[in-house]
Amino acid sequence: MNLRTTILILYFLQISFTLVMKYLSYQGDNSPELQDRILKYFTNTDIQNGIEYGRRGFFASILSEILDFILTGLFVFTPLSKRLENYLATKTKDRFYLTVVLFFLVFAFAKAVLSLPFNYYFGFVLEHQFGFSKMSFLDWVIRTSKTLVLTIGIGILLGTLAVFVLKQFRKTWKIIIPVGSLLLSLLFTILFPILITPLFYDYKPIEEGSLKNKIVALCDLAKIKVENVYVINESKYSGHTNAYFTGFGDNRKIFLYDTLIQNHTEEEVVSVLGHEIGHWSHNHQLKDITLSTIETALLCFLLGYIFIKTKEENKIHLNEIHSPSTVPFLFLLLSILSSFSSPVWNSLSRFQEKEADWEALVLTKDKKSFISTEIKMAKDNKSRLNPNPWTVFFYHSHPTTLERIRMAEEF
Ligand SMILES: [Zn+2]
Repeated sequence: MNLRTTILILYFLQISFTLVMKYLSYQGDNSPELQDRILKYFTNTDIQNGIEYGRRGFFASILSEILDFILTGLFVFTPLSKRLENYLATKTKDRFYLTVVLFFLVFAFAKAVLSLPFNYYFGFVLEHQFGFSKMSFLDWVIRTSKTLVLTIGIGILLGTLAVFVLKQFRKTWKIIIPVGSLLLSLLFTILFPILITPLFYDYKPIEEGSLKNKIVALCDLAKIKVENVYVINESKYSGHTNAYFTGFGDNRKIFLYDTLIQNHTEEEVVSVLGHEIGHWSHNHQLKDITLSTIETALLCFLLGYIFIKTKEENKIHLNEIHSPSTVPFLFLLLSILSSFSSPVWNSLSRFQEKEADWEALVLTKDKKSFISTEIKMAKDNKSRLNPNPWTVFFYHSHPTTLERIRMAEEF
């Protein structure tokens, strides 16, 4: 079997797998035994809310997957990509990097146009319907435009950078790209709270008072230096709750959504932070960045190899590896390869979440607040309380609410 056929079959298998998983996720887990365990902490209405929210836009999400599948397929398995590149090259009088940028713009624009109606439906219509979003239509337009400009801008910048490396370092790009992406992700972690967060949120330092004192005491107990604790005004946009750490070393910051502070007791907020501290004290971020650098290196070698073999076979329309028209092909290979690696990443993530939960319990010794936080968060976010075990294995980055509660009970 030739490579083109193999890739095509894998591509079809991938979309079939996605659709089967969507169906399983729709079904959930209806075992009566699980139902009984859930009803110890939740009501039937909570279960129903989670089911309805989890099933929202089922057909729209399938349609979106299929359209994306077709678009990528068109770019890879027809001469479209190569023709577009040739057309742009003529228009720009063969100025290479201008052609690259324009090609990326057209590709990103096609993807954005396809996904925009779905963004509107999922991010605006359904979020309102389920009582989460408080955004006006104008708010939504502004937010979506900012996100689009930012992601397309950063995407094109990084893509052009990658093309530059592929073109200039034909032997060593497989080393330069993983190392470069390692450095970039470290830089990004530091710059994100300074440059990106302010574009989307207003935030201010937490008010003096008992909550701040409890947070400082918790950080002292965990021997963590934190530059400051900030409160983000998520309540302006939605009812979703969250808390996270950013940065390294002395510029480490804690961000709390104001929704978290409004809906939870101080002990519960402290329990959530205990979990975030757990991530930090187990060096999860550093471990993840290291592993993903190794993964990127492996992917580069694999992509380079598959590219050469496919080009030799001459059944897919391919220019050079640094040609912009090759990018959709590389994207498709990446998405096939990542359907193998993503369950591994998700299993690792669930393991790390467990470690962080455990640390929260050890630090706060307050399993009552831990459990009540889990219950409130699941209710507030309309979490699926009975997810299908296969969906959990392949897609979930966190253990289920019930697993987390059970762990605390056993503490
Ligand atoms: Zn976590």
